[in-house]
Amino acid sequence: MHNSVYETLGIKACYTRILLEDGSKLKERFLHLSLSGANITVPHKEAAFNACDEIRGFAKKVGVVNTIVNENGRLVGYNTDADGFMFAIGEFTNIKRILVLGAGGTAKALVQKFLDEGMEVSILNRSQRRLEEFASLDVTCYTWENFQNSSFDLVVNTTSAGLEDDSLPAPKELIDEILSHTRYAADAIYGKLTPFLQEAQKRSIPYKDGADMLLGQGVLAAWLFLGKRHDKKELERAMRKALLL
Ligand code: NDP
Repeated sequence: MHNSVYETLGIKACYTRILLEDGSKLKERFLHLSLSGANITVPHKEAAFNACDEIRGFAKKVGVVNTIVNENGRLVGYNTDADGFMFAIGEFTNIKRILVLGAGGTAKALVQKFLDEGMEVSILNRSQRRLEEFASLDVTCYTWENFQNSSFDLVVNTTSAGLEDDSLPAPKELIDEILSHTRYAADAIYGKLTPFLQEAQKRSIPYKDGADMLLGQGVLAAWLFLGKRHDKKELERAMRKALLL
C-alpha cells in the first residue's frame, strides 16, 4: 500500500516487513536500520509505546502505538488504528451499543475511541488478565465464563483468532448467541473472510473486514511518514490498487 503511494507520488522510499522477535529491542533495531518510520503490529504495539521518546495525540490516551516517525533520531509515536476503524464503519448507522471481542492493543484503542464517541461498550475476552487494564473505564467486561448476552448494534472482533487458523474468537455457542442479537459485525483481520465473519455472512448481517480499517489507518500513517497531508482520495486510490494485487 505504501509502496504504491511512493510510486504514484514519485517518492524514493521503500516500505517493507521486518520481523521483531523481542519487543524490548524495538528502538535499537529501528535506529540500527536507519528507518524513517514504521508501523508496528501484533504483538508489539504496547512495546512500541514504551520505545518512543515522545507520544502524540490519541496514542497518549491509550498507551498503544502503531505508527512511529523518526524525527532527527527521536522516535515519535502515534496511533492511527482507531480512526482507521471509524473510517471503515462510516456507513453503519445508529451505532450506540458495541461489543468488542478481545482485550489487546487494538481493543484498547478502539474502546477508548468508542467511549469518546459516546457509545456504550462491553468487552468479551478469553481470559481475565488483560481485562484488568479496562477497570478504570466505563465499560462492562466479561470472560467466556461469565458472559451475559444482550443486544448490540455492532460486534467487533479484535482478537487474532482466525488470523492464522480457523478458530472463532469465542466458543461457537457464545458466537451464535452474540450474532443473533447484533445489527452489524466487523473484524480487524484483513486478507481473508475470518470464521467469525463467515458466521455473520451466513446470517446476512452486514459486515466490514479489516481491509477498510487498514486503508484508513494507512492514509493517516502516510500523512505522518511523508510529513504532509497529501490528497486523501489520491492516497486511497493508490493504496486500494495495491490491496487488490
Ligand atoms: P494483541 O496481541 O494485543 O491482542 C490479542 C487479543 O486476542 C487478546 O485479547 C487475546 O486474548 C485474544 N486472542 C488471541 N488468540 C485468541 C483465540 N484463539 N481465541 C480468542 N481470543 C484470542 O493483538 P492486537 O490487538 O495488536 O491485534 C489483534 C488483531 O487485529 C490482529 O489479528 C491484527 O492483525 C489485527 N489488526 C488489524 C488492523 C487493520 O488495520 N485491519 C490494525 C490493527 C490490528 P488473551 O488476553 O486471552 O490472550
